[in-house]
Amino acid sequence: METKDDGIETIDVAIVGGGIGGLAAALSLHAKGIGCTVFEAVEQVRPLGVGINLLPHSVRVLAGLGLQPRLAATAVETAELAFHNKHGQLIWSEPRGLAGGYAFPQFSIHRGELQMILFEAARERLPQGALRTAHALARFEDRGDHVLLHFTDRAGAPRPPVRARAVIGADGIHSVVRRTFFPAEGPARFSGRILWRATTRARPFLTGRSMIQAGHQDQKFVCYPIQREPDADGLKTINWIAELTVPAGTTPAREDWNKKVDKSVFREPFAGWRFDWLDIPALIDGAESIFEFPMVDRDPLPRWTHGRVTLLGDAAHPMYPIGSNGASQGILDAEAMAQAMVEAGFPARGADPTDAFARYEGARREATGKIVLSNRQNGPDQVMQMAEERAPQGFAHIHDIIPREELEAISARYKQLAGFSREHVNR
Ligand SMILES: Cc1cc2nc3c(=O)[nH]c(=O)nc-3n(C[C@H](O)[C@H](O)[C@H](O)COP(=O)(O)OP(=O)(O)OC[C@H]3O[C@@H](n4cnc5c(N)ncnc54)[C@H](O)[C@@H]3O)c2cc1C
Repeated sequence: METKDDGIETIDVAIVGGGIGGLAAALSLHAKGIGCTVFEAVEQVRPLGVGINLLPHSVRVLAGLGLQPRLAATAVETAELAFHNKHGQLIWSEPRGLAGGYAFPQFSIHRGELQMILFEAARERLPQGALRTAHALARFEDRGDHVLLHFTDRAGAPRPPVRARAVIGADGIHSVVRRTFFPAEGPARFSGRILWRATTRARPFLTGRSMIQAGHQDQKFVCYPIQREPDADGLKTINWIAELTVPAGTTPAREDWNKKVDKSVFREPFAGWRFDWLDIPALIDGAESIFEFPMVDRDPLPRWTHGRVTLLGDAAHPMYPIGSNGASQGILDAEAMAQAMVEAGFPARGADPTDAFARYEGARREATGKIVLSNRQNGPDQVMQMAEERAPQGFAHIHDIIPREELEAISARYKQLAGFSREHVNR
């Protein structure tokens, strides 16, 4: 860090947003000796959110940053992913993570715990002053050889501007950086479905480390444990998401990860979903707080990089939470960014960020755009819709209505698309 005659502080790389993607980027850059400063809008980083899944390719990246032991101390090593119809009948299940032959586990974890693990690691590793909270980016100007960033605190009062040689916009679904380059884009694109997310303390089900989905594209329930060891009463924290298609014309409120609602808003359609292996109404009734979030995404962008500024994570490619890719793809972006910067000559002083960002974008933009589009077609969850369309009353044998090869092909295709085929991860 340095300060020029005009009194404005100059830094190397500014990362806007200290969420999962921004913090993973900071740790990845730091591991390559590249100086960076994270600017996070909130005053205090708190463990917000509910459950999230980390696929083995993103765990590989975090393991490379030395974080696997911390993750393993709290996260559940997911052993199985299983899809069911609305009657609770099994459509398809597959072993996941280590159980699936991957060299790295799949982790089910509380998003807040994941963010705190990344935040604490960044606090330990980055130099003092490189992690700044209460810095909300308000606007920026590209001045050719640098970018001038203007921040405010939580009350909206201006903070001193900062000059950066390169800027990574990791400021999430409502990205200011993205909006600056695409002002006509408007609000996120609503899928017509609403998610209700919560955790409930309950008995583990199936393998005890299973992630399950039940239903079809218009009514779905997803759940998995996010607590590694049960409490003395044998109960664990189970993360769940209830999802419903809402009538056409419904305009959801702006996406807010922390909007609380009452279960009465959505419980009724799930009232009969008591399977002999899982009692869904009981899970809904036992929830502490329920958060409502409209399922949204944005169209893939024609470009992420404008001069010395680029996008990462949800700012670049917000996608439906299907296939467990939201956090994982942000973490892969972080790895690709560090790699691209090294290839462009960083941390050497004369290294060109536009070269680094072109390499990064080349590695990531198309790949993530394909996942956004696949998730609009339900990604791997499409097997549930197929079962609903072919046998709404249920089936005697699943392979009477969907051949095994078809189920296998859907699963394999999505893994390939999202970059987590076993061969690829273990290579
Ligand atoms: C509070 C919260 C709770 C969430 N809960 C869940 C959940 O339970 N399950 C799930 O699957 N996903 C959840 N998500 C989304 C999930 O974290 C992301 O989809 C994914 O991890 C990609 O991470 P990201 O870093 O790109 O975005 P995010 O994790 O959304 O992080 C973006 C960060 O940028 C900060 N920011 C925003 N605007 C500015 C600005 N102008 N200047 C500076 N900083 C800014 C935000 O405060 C945030 O910390 C949640 C996100 C948030 C912010």
